Amino acid sequence: MVNINERYAKQMLLKDFGPEGQKKLAGGSVLIVGCGALGSIQSQLLVRAGVGRLRIVDRDVPEIGNLHRQILFDEADVEAGTPKAEVAGRKLPGANSSAVIDARVLEVTASNIDDLVADVDLVLDATDNFETRYLINDACIRHDKPWVYGGVIATSGMSMTIIPGKSPCLRCLFPEPPAPGTMPSMETEGVLGTAPVIVGALEATEAIKLLVGGKPREGLMTIDVWTGSFQAVPVIRDENCPACGQTR
Ligand SMILES: [Zn+2]
Repeated sequence: MVNINERYAKQMLLKDFGPEGQKKLAGGSVLIVGCGALGSIQSQLLVRAGVGRLRIVDRDVPEIGNLHRQILFDEADVEAGTPKAEVAGRKLPGANSSAVIDARVLEVTASNIDDLVADVDLVLDATDNFETRYLINDACIRHDKPWVYGGVIATSGMSMTIIPGKSPCLRCLFPEPPAPGTMPSMETEGVLGTAPVIVGALEATEAIKLLVGGKPREGLMTIDVWTGSFQAVPVIRDENCPACGQTR
């Protein structure tokens, strides 16, 4: 039996949190799309914070080249070839047995995104590609669910919180998906393991805040862990946005 007061004592001391905030987290549900570097940190932070239900979707198996940044996995998982979502489903309850983990070994597509999004409170982007981010964006607008965009490359990262009907969406920021091969990728630029930890933590913070009723962060947060720069860039909502423009 989990003693709530003992487990979350330091968290419940936070301003605007308390036992009420903790109860809201326990009743909350989050979809994490992807279980790589970002999903590793988000899922652990949210489970430990006391979020009641997590759905984690990923189709891949961990590889040795993932281990420098994907902190949910270890060498034994690589050797066993167990899918990342399955490993998450097995390991996360060890951090907090009261969390319900709905881990799915699945590729997110246009035909399943609505079902994945429909019954959660909010969505965290832990993907590594824009195609899936646009699927998340459009589904979240259709279902009126907040979601948090996050991306990492080399030592830098970005994150933006999207509240359908209120804040700019991903298509307001980037109207068209970048053409394949035109964006820098981890394959060419690499990635430092600490960058996704920071971006994943920023996204998880937004999830916790939204679940307890806090004010979402505005604008596009850009970071560089190497130079130590953190900036919030204002983003304007596009009245003619193909995704969110008609819903105003
Ligand atoms: Zn938009």
